[in-house]
Amino acid sequence: MNISICPYCHTGRLQRRDMVYIQWHGDALLVVDRMPAIVCDVCGERAYDEQAMEHLQRLLWASAPGQSSSSANKLA
Ligand SMILES: [Zn+2]
Repeated sequence: MNISICPYCHTGRLQRRDMVYIQWHGDALLVVDRMPAIVCDVCGERAYDEQAMEHLQRLLWASAPGQSSSSANKLA
């Protein structure tokens, strides 16, 4: 694992961290508590781990088709 310089501010270093990831899936709000990401320690720019993203999308689409009877997932 190499530490790289942030491409945005060219000052900070990108650090691995678990971040909260939030995404709408259909009309359900999906919240992933500990999504692996890299975060700049200076400007706060973040990018989520590509493999984790892919894995998440695969999980989502595997459970997606058909059962879209959305119920109580709206924000109050
Ligand atoms: Zn930065």
